Amino acid sequence: MTAPNFSRTVLGVPRIGPRRELKRAIEGYWKGAVDRAGLEATAAALRREEWARLVGAGLDSVPTNTFSYYDQILDTAAMLGALPPRVAEIADPVDRYFAAARGTATVTPLEMTKWFDTNYHYLVPEISAATSFALHPEKVLGDLDEALAQGVPARPVVVGPLTFLALSKAVDGAGDPLARVDELLPLYRELLGRLANRGAQWVQLDEPVLVTEAGLGLAEEVARVYGDLSAAANRPSILVATYFGSPGPSLEALGSTRIEAVAVDLVTDPAAVDAVAAAPALQDKLLLAGVVDGRNVWRTDLEKALATLGTLSGSAAALAVSTSCSLLHVPYAVSAETAPEPTGAEGVRAWLAFAEEKVAEVVVLSRAFTEGRPAVSAEFGRSAAVRAAREGDPRLHDDAVRDRLRDIRATGSGRAAAGERAVVQRERLGLPPLPTTTIGSYPQTGAIRVARADLRAGRIDEAEYVRRMRAEIADVVKLQEDLGIDVLVHGEPERNDMVQYFAERLGGFLATDNGWVQSYGTRCVRPPILFGDVRRAEPMTVSWITYAQNLTDRPVKGMLTGPVTILAWSFVRDDQPLADSADQVALAIRDETVDLEEAGVRIIQVDEPALRELLPLLAADRPAYLDWATASFRLSTSGVDDDTQIHTHLCYSEFGDVIGAIADLDADVTSIEAARSRMEILGDLNRAGFANQVGPGVYDIHSPRVPTQDEVEASLRAALGAVPADRLWVNPDCGLKTRGTEETVAALRNMVAAAEAVRASL
Ligand code: GLN
Ligand code: ZN
Repeated sequence: MTAPNFSRTVLGVPRIGPRRELKRAIEGYWKGAVDRAGLEATAAALRREEWARLVGAGLDSVPTNTFSYYDQILDTAAMLGALPPRVAEIADPVDRYFAAARGTATVTPLEMTKWFDTNYHYLVPEISAATSFALHPEKVLGDLDEALAQGVPARPVVVGPLTFLALSKAVDGAGDPLARVDELLPLYRELLGRLANRGAQWVQLDEPVLVTEAGLGLAEEVARVYGDLSAAANRPSILVATYFGSPGPSLEALGSTRIEAVAVDLVTDPAAVDAVAAAPALQDKLLLAGVVDGRNVWRTDLEKALATLGTLSGSAAALAVSTSCSLLHVPYAVSAETAPEPTGAEGVRAWLAFAEEKVAEVVVLSRAFTEGRPAVSAEFGRSAAVRAAREGDPRLHDDAVRDRLRDIRATGSGRAAAGERAVVQRERLGLPPLPTTTIGSYPQTGAIRVARADLRAGRIDEAEYVRRMRAEIADVVKLQEDLGIDVLVHGEPERNDMVQYFAERLGGFLATDNGWVQSYGTRCVRPPILFGDVRRAEPMTVSWITYAQNLTDRPVKGMLTGPVTILAWSFVRDDQPLADSADQVALAIRDETVDLEEAGVRIIQVDEPALRELLPLLAADRPAYLDWATASFRLSTSGVDDDTQIHTHLCYSEFGDVIGAIADLDADVTSIEAARSRMEILGDLNRAGFANQVGPGVYDIHSPRVPTQDEVEASLRAALGAVPADRLWVNPDCGLKTRGTEETVAALRNMVAAAEAVRASL
């Protein structure tokens, strides 16, 4: 049965609540402060209000089942009976679900990883030979019932079988999960039948994996899987949603099946417009044209989007206006930003569109397309005026910044070769072999949290806040001296977040008050918005670091965040290449390193934990990215003398794809997450020709477990098998911010003892 087409929709919506109501309810439930009924009532109200907003705004098809207590991939695993067996004993389905998400005293949670190239994290389903799939459609069906009872033109959204399996990992020696797609097809067919019986006219199957490198090889599977599902007799009309890039060969494959609609992201890869326009693939289908950017925060260029719709109008049987991807990745509403705009960012808010404003843009565009532009000329006029104001804004173009960048690029790095630098640094620093250090942050104490809250509430002034932070720093310095650590840190108590801290101090960035975006589960972040050329008005870290340095004779590391990581965790400009924005941030960081050096700081660490995160989804795009990313890091770190030692820190990833880039960063010392991969990273680095100093993490800081001295010694000896002693540093895997003080002290004590024991045996 073919359902009527629709003309305006979005692929998904935020779900944490406009005021993070869901976060509070779920965390309350975990603590026992909110009961099950309370949790469910909050969730139902959020769904109801969201649907009402979408219908009220004028969408004629509304995505449902986008709600989740934690994560949509975990929801899909639950729906397909693929939760790990270790949670099976937990009888209650909600508690079982949360156990898989976050573990219990006895159960380890599923692993979490990044959702494509966004900052959302999903839970990785585990598929073993023993996994026997079975359909549990209660959530999808219940959600549909609710929506239909409310009179919503519901389009349930479900993760498609190819994406689900591609994102899963094989465990217990099982083969590639994708090979098991035929086991899922009967379940999806049954689900389609049940949805149709319940009154669903449309269903949206999300297949973002089709835009990735892995997706390039899936066209045949796409034709087979969707050929099969679309052949089902009893089903709603099927929309397959691709997003985060161009669908590539999958477009033809989808076109060859009997599905009714395809969604294409026309923002991420502008070439997708021509690819769709040139392909006859969609002649009998509805095309959801993703012309409104679902994951960045800028107002849409309505004229350009309308022109795109015009270009595409002949290439499909019908066109619907949509977002490029789910709006999960942007905050709820610009209209929720009510405080006066911060100095330096006046007027910028008018340039922005969050979820609510993007829904309105979809409707305006659809009306322009169907009723003609005059019907919405006022909206088009307003949008054009705002865009013109943005384009002409002087803050977008700072000649001083651009001229300096050009000069620095022209003169090159100026630092000596790594080997020569190592010699002068060794002389200056006089460190023992296998020097010990930590990654930057120390445990967030209660006193730090209280001080921050007191400052925010106006109970203390800035001077008192600084005094309390300095007391924290003094404690951390003393602790490190007592432990016998060689290279100290100040502990980063003054930083709420390693990116936000710098964004708040740099011109060209706007912080939001309510711009929360789900990162994972109940964790939300407020990414800063980079809107203009980046200017550093004054030193950002020097007074903290010099305060710490003056307390000790041992070297204290200056701590900065690198340009790639600052961009990766912000909303970025869409009016210039990311590489240009990165270099501007790099220039500000470079100026900071020079100021730190002048203040007597001998070692400066520039963290790039997100280096891997911005890696393009398609292999062909990766070399260019890695080129500018590493060049930008070198720009940020090459302003100092050869005897100032530059460290960097990398974590959160499998480094395979970026191993060559790590060498290209050319930091004097690289600390890198390694404990969980048992030092294998060192062999990989050697093979990539990396010959600088390295600090493979000798213990995992993601768990409260205290490593024994023997374990750390064993790690160190393993590391010495790959790296000579004069290139090896000793440090934990990552910052210690999330750990308790007691376990941290115990772990570091064992780490130092292990380093001393191994040193003695050299
Ligand atoms: N210097 C930071 C810290 O120690 C690094 C954090 C990170 O790698 N994510 O907290
Ligand atoms: Zn780290």
